[in-house]
Amino acid sequence: MRRFLIWLGPVVLAVLAAAVTGLLAERLAVSQLLEQAGPRRDIYVEGLRSELARYETLPAVMAYSSTLRQMLAHPQDEALRQQANAYLEQVAEVSGAAAIYAIDPQGTTHAASNWRGPGSFVDMNFAYRPYFRDALTKGYGRFYGIGTTSGAPGYYFARPIPGPDGAVGVVVVKVSLAAMERTWGQAADRVLVRDGHGVTILSSVPDWAFRTLDPLSDGLRERLEATRQYDRIDLRALEVVRGASVVPAAQEEATALRIGGARAPLLLAVSRTVPGTDWTLMLLTDMAPVLHARHLGWGGGAVAVLLLTLATLLVRQRRRTARAERATRAALQQAAHDLEQQVSARTAELVAANSDLQRAQDGLVQAAKLAALGQLATGIAHELNQPLAALRTLSDNAAAFLARGKPDRVTENLTLIGDLTERMARITAQLRGFARRSENRPEAVRLAVAAGNSLALLAEKTRRLGVTVETAIDPALCVRFDPVRLEQVLVNLLGNALDAVNGQPQRWVRLEAARDGGRVRVRVLDSGPGIAAASLPHLFEPFFTTKPPGQGLGLGLVISAGIVQDHGGEIKADNRPEGGAMFTLDLPAHD
Ligand code: ADP
Repeated sequence: MRRFLIWLGPVVLAVLAAAVTGLLAERLAVSQLLEQAGPRRDIYVEGLRSELARYETLPAVMAYSSTLRQMLAHPQDEALRQQANAYLEQVAEVSGAAAIYAIDPQGTTHAASNWRGPGSFVDMNFAYRPYFRDALTKGYGRFYGIGTTSGAPGYYFARPIPGPDGAVGVVVVKVSLAAMERTWGQAADRVLVRDGHGVTILSSVPDWAFRTLDPLSDGLRERLEATRQYDRIDLRALEVVRGASVVPAAQEEATALRIGGARAPLLLAVSRTVPGTDWTLMLLTDMAPVLHARHLGWGGGAVAVLLLTLATLLVRQRRRTARAERATRAALQQAAHDLEQQVSARTAELVAANSDLQRAQDGLVQAAKLAALGQLATGIAHELNQPLAALRTLSDNAAAFLARGKPDRVTENLTLIGDLTERMARITAQLRGFARRSENRPEAVRLAVAAGNSLALLAEKTRRLGVTVETAIDPALCVRFDPVRLEQVLVNLLGNALDAVNGQPQRWVRLEAARDGGRVRVRVLDSGPGIAAASLPHLFEPFFTTKPPGQGLGLGLVISAGIVQDHGGEIKADNRPEGGAMFTLDLPAHD
């Protein structure tokens, strides 16, 4: 609908412009056509007038011919009639008139130039002809009509022949305009002459002769039949379509019309009366150039407006496109900005979630560690009890030696006490260190130190189970790891190994480490029964344990694997071919 409305204005404008330019072009073409047609019409009128004028005086002169008078005085005298015939024949030949004849007052022709031919007028009565009556009553007669004898159209000039007692007869000159009509037919112009009744008496187009442009009234038709003016001719009306008034109002003698129906070419008619007659000569010019000009005008106006509209629309479209581009760019920027915000929000959420997860994991690690510590607690308590008991004995001894006055022995005992407290302090420090909640901060850790601490925590258990522990670790070998967590992993692996060899005939556990490029490979081997084939795939699943209730939770390996992976490492479980289990840690080395 909007689209339609956008086009409505330009279309209305185009139609208006086309109408205006069409009208202007048409006006111009019409006035040009009229300028050319007017003078040409005048030439035709002048030609016709002078043709008629040539004969105008002839009957008046002949009225005084004594030959005609004498003959009319004695119409029965054959010699006089012959004389008159010869005279009329001669004058007709010289003047070029179609026929000349003399009629007595009763209308009977007594001599005629065409007396010889088959269509002779001699003895014909023309009393009914208006020219005859007019000549007698008015002194002259003029008439255009079809010859009742010859059937040929002609112009009749008649004059009374005066006698001593009024007219003795009438002399008539009939002029044919056929030759002139023929020359008209050869010109490009279409010319027609209408008489006072509106009947086309002359025409360059043969089909238009003796027709009317408008139908005749019945009264007129009857009168014309009486005078036999258009003898035996059916005066049918031409099919005339009058055009819309394309002719400027000032040019009143000009009209547009089509002769021969709506399909006939449109003609511009310029008319003028022929002097000395009641005739009107009409010059008809083809209006095709006018129509052409009108169409050009229409097209020109419409095209101009449509081009203008198109240009306007183009400019508008350009602007709209530019606006759309700006909007798109802004939208893209907004989208990018939104995305950025979403990403950062999401990142923050992830970071938060991650730290939540981390906290949860840390909590789990800590819990597992404390559980392990719980299992170690009795052993550790035992480990502390021994020096405590020794401390008591030594202090008792010191007191006894002091009483006995043996200061040397007192000093000896006190030194031993100091050593023992140092050893106890080391054990509690190791415990504290192990129990500490770590933040998972990788750093350079001496593997030998971590192994020493782990084995210290398991010292009591090792002793109690009678297990030999071997270590083969280069003291300088360092890994990148959180120190507390590394101990946690080692305590777990070594603890499992101790459990495995418990009750075995051979009881040893071996911890070895070697550098392999940028990695450090740590192995925990034992002389235990190894891992059952059915258990192997499930070792690292949470809560998988083969130990009796109260001794194992089934979390040690899961948590150890998690810790190792967090540090970019790997943990694997295997059975040695000679029997016994082998756990391998693949850890990042630190230089
Ligand atoms: P837990 O020690 O509480 O059972 P772990 O995840 O540390 O949990 O160990 C899971 C299981 O793996 C043990 O129950 C045991 O069956 C097996 N396992 C671990 N280490 C050894 C080993 N050195 N020799 C044989 N079996 C082992």
